[in-house]
Amino acid sequence: MTSPSPVWRPFFQHALEPDPPTVVRAQGAYLHTSDGRALLDAISSWWVTTHGHGHPRIVAAIREAAESLDQVIFASVTHEPAERLARELVALAPAGLTHVFYSDSGSTAVEVALKMALGAFSNRGVARTKIVAMEGAYHGDTIGTMSVGERGVFNAPYAPLLFEVGRIPFPAAGREQATLDAFEALARAGDVAALIVEPLVLGAGGMRIYTPQVLAELKRIAEKHGAYFIADEVMTGWGRTGTLFACEQAGVSPDILCASKGLTGGAVPLAATLASEEIFAAHHSSDRAKTFFHSSSYTANPIACAAAVANLEIWREEPVTERIAALSRWQAARIRRFEGDPRFRAPRACGTIAAVDLAVPDPGYLAEVGLKLRRFFLERGLLLRPLGDTLYAMPPYCVTEAELDRVFDAFEEAADVAGLVR
Ligand SMILES: *Cc1c(COP(=O)(O)O)cnc(C)c1O
Repeated sequence: MTSPSPVWRPFFQHALEPDPPTVVRAQGAYLHTSDGRALLDAISSWWVTTHGHGHPRIVAAIREAAESLDQVIFASVTHEPAERLARELVALAPAGLTHVFYSDSGSTAVEVALKMALGAFSNRGVARTKIVAMEGAYHGDTIGTMSVGERGVFNAPYAPLLFEVGRIPFPAAGREQATLDAFEALARAGDVAALIVEPLVLGAGGMRIYTPQVLAELKRIAEKHGAYFIADEVMTGWGRTGTLFACEQAGVSPDILCASKGLTGGAVPLAATLASEEIFAAHHSSDRAKTFFHSSSYTANPIACAAAVANLEIWREEPVTERIAALSRWQAARIRRFEGDPRFRAPRACGTIAAVDLAVPDPGYLAEVGLKLRRFFLERGLLLRPLGDTLYAMPPYCVTEAELDRVFDAFEEAADVAGLVR
């Protein structure tokens, strides 16, 4: 045996979980391990891999960029990959988003969005500092993003440091009006700077889906009361919900849009926060104090921007939309097999995302079974990570129907592993 690894893993209880497999290569929908196994990456490596691992265009773009311009400060100089990417993002994004601010993760994209909204009001001398968020939301793991996210075991130790936000309930089917009423009541007070939402699907909150109608109504209410609408499309962007951005399905143009995960096709980290002319204008001033004071060392890293430009080329030149449409149909058809099965609850799908809940007797139950489930999936050659009692598949777009069958067969068997009886 080798000595224990000094690596402290994310979302990993070292006291309980065995060492994970070592991945030596990733291609298409598969991760190849050092012991010669191939794991089907059914969750797109935490929702980032869109077309598949090692897409030749993206690999070539990264190689070329690394050889010519690896990294440069972005405050003093600019470069073509960042300029080109920004122009293309503005052209692709919902109308009205005219400016692009780069950072390097979903969390920072959201932090930037919150700071932009608050800064815009502050710079105009308007006293609006309240943020409204949805119950069950997830926006990242930094202090600011945890503040707008759901509170619970994941962030309890930091609770005293998290800022207060207004909460609106999740718009579950049949209870949409309560959500809209709650937002209207908060917005009416006149102190709301912004509403932040994950459009159509709450990801880490359990793949909970709501309608485009609710999304459009939330935007309408925000606009009516002068609050900004922030769309956190970090997970839902890049085709995940069936369209390039989820907001498109509601005909919504947000004031601020956060993109990351699939922005580079999932190859290298990059994030972009897109903002409206009004928000940019609020920071555009001969008064230096109104500058948007935000940066990170690797802002607009040229290699990452080049990868993102290649990703957009793939969207333009390959049948990505057709692949997503087919995958969406396959997912919707397969998740239906759990309807009426008492061991499962709420089979659902939105675009390339399909989910179903295990009908466990109580929430604590799964804490013990979770590990067992993950081990079972690995034995089946599947990389899956249930969210509590929620089993979900969010594969890269290159996945085949036969590969999906393996995933859904394993979901069925997972009920046995969890000890649920028909
Ligand atoms: C993953 C995620 C984030 C955080 O992104 P990181 O790159 O992990 O920091 C933010 N918002 C949503 C909706 C996400 O799914």
